[in-house]
Parts: sequence; C-alpha cells; structure tokens
Amino acid sequence: MKRFLLLTVLVAAMTLPLTPLHGTAQEFGLEDGDGASLGLPGEAAAAQEKPAPSAGSALVLAAPARIGVGQPFLVRLTSDQPLDSVAIHWQGKVVVPSISVWNNRHIALAMLGSDVLSAKPGKEDLSVIASIDGKENTLRRTVRLTSVDYPKQELTLPPKMVTPPADVSARIQAERKAVHAALETVSATRLWRLPLERPVDGRITSLYGLRRILNGTPKNPHRGLDFSSPMGNPVKCAADGVVILTGDHYYAGNSVYVDHGNGVVSMYFHLSKLLVKEGDHVARGQAVGLSGKSGRATGPHLHFSVAVLGRMVDPQPLIDSDTDTLLHLQ
Ligand SMILES: [Zn+2]
Repeated sequence: MKRFLLLTVLVAAMTLPLTPLHGTAQEFGLEDGDGASLGLPGEAAAAQEKPAPSAGSALVLAAPARIGVGQPFLVRLTSDQPLDSVAIHWQGKVVVPSISVWNNRHIALAMLGSDVLSAKPGKEDLSVIASIDGKENTLRRTVRLTSVDYPKQELTLPPKMVTPPADVSARIQAERKAVHAALETVSATRLWRLPLERPVDGRITSLYGLRRILNGTPKNPHRGLDFSSPMGNPVKCAADGVVILTGDHYYAGNSVYVDHGNGVVSMYFHLSKLLVKEGDHVARGQAVGLSGKSGRATGPHLHFSVAVLGRMVDPQPLIDSDTDTLLHLQ
C-alpha cells in the first residue's frame, strides 16, 4: 500500500506542468474541463486544424482558413510535449510567442493580421516551426485574405490640414521614423489578453478601413477606430504593457504607444495630456492620458490603433471578441 502511494505521488509529480500555470483557460480559447484530450471537440470540424503528420497527434495547429484584409486573427499551437520554442512566420515577419502550460498542454498563442493599406486579397503562407526535444517540426497552412467592403467618406477640410506646409516635412519624416521603430517592436513576453479593454466608453465615430476622400483626393484608409470622447476624459490602456513611445506628433498630436508583447502595440492619439512616460509599465485599464484634439483633429475624440508585427489591423474585433472567436474555429 505504501509503495502504491509513493508511486501515485511520483506519477503525479511527473505529470505536473514544468512551468507554473499562467492565467485562465479562456486566454488560450480552451475551456475548463475539456481534459487532456487533444482532439478538442469544438474544433474537430475546423478545416485548418489537422495534426502534424511528423508528430503524430501530439501537435495541433489552429488557424483560420480565410480572413478579411485588415482583420486580426489568432493562431494557436497545442502540444502534449513541452515546446522548446515556436516561431511563426507570416508576411515576411516572425513572432516567437510565449509558451503557456495548461492541463498538461503546452500552448503557443499568437496574434497576426494584415494592413488595409498594403495587403491584397489572395493566398498567404503561414508557417509554424515548433521545436520539441531538439527536433524541429514545421506546420504549413494557407490563409486566404478576402476583400472587405470598407466604407467610404468624402470630407472637405481647410487645405492646410490636408497638405502639410513644406516647413514641417522634416518633422513629419522624423516622427515617421520613430513610429516605425516602435511598431516593429516584437518583445518576448505576451502581456495582452482578449478581449482588449475598450479605451473609452464613447461611441465609435469612424471605423477602421474607412476610405477617405479629402477635398476630392483619395487618402490613405483610416487605420484605427475613432471614439467620441470629451476633452479631458481618461483614456484607458487596452492591455498590460510597457510604454515604448510618447510624443507630440504633427498628425497624431499627443500620442502614447504601448507594447503588449509578441508583436502587439496599441496607440492613443490626439490626447490633451499624457499621464505616462516612455519605459512605464502600465496595467490594463490604467489611464495613459486624457482625450483631446491635439494634432490634426477637428474636435476632441480618441483615435485608437493596434499594430500586429508592424501592420495596422482593425482594433474592433479585439475589443469585441474573445480568443475562441478570433481563432475563427466556429
Ligand atoms: Zn482616427
């Protein structure tokens, strides 16, 4: 009997996760109680979820088969063996997602997406390289980017707001460089979870993807969401993160850029006041600034953007949807 007990304890110890549990099952799109089985019942029908032939049924990749241009999505790799590392390749970029352990499953979850400014409908390759016990397993998928009929808006504005005066072009170039560097940040630890916190309560006044025609000339599509927000209203951070850039920029006005890890960066523009500085650690829901109308804004509002691996994606699904929905498995 004593020997049996000892054996039980040993087996229990051996099957314990190697790293501490992080967060809740919901964060990975898995539900409490769906046990150790890897054939997640709700996902069996997903065309994109097939076991990797080289690794038996131990490695399962969930990714959407199709997604709209500009829309964010999630990719999840689940393994019953410890994952040394995972590298996800998408549109010429790489993310090495944090690995979590839940119910003896080793899970890598990554956010990906495309940019309405540059992406075209068509097939894109997604490849996931999983290192297990020193051996690399490569899983490949094709994701079809589908066209989205984003709305159109014609606006008439004072010409100096549409075409900046020549003497600010050096300033705009310098700001673009700093912003580009911030958006390329791909840090190692995932701090975001879904849904993201809605930054203000006000209604959405301009959607992502909106095709704007200013004074008769087509301009770049709107690559964020505009929220109605009165002057001085606190603007909440969408997720835990680190402030990587702040500034008073020509177009965006007083701006805050927050890195949420694994290639996800959120942005808050036209603020009247900044409440954080570069290097600050911020919590989900913490006020990063007060809304205003600084920069190129006709009135007080909040412009909110989310970049994934440097691409500006539609933030709306990220504040409206949970992990399961964004895996597009239903
Ligand atoms: Zn905007």
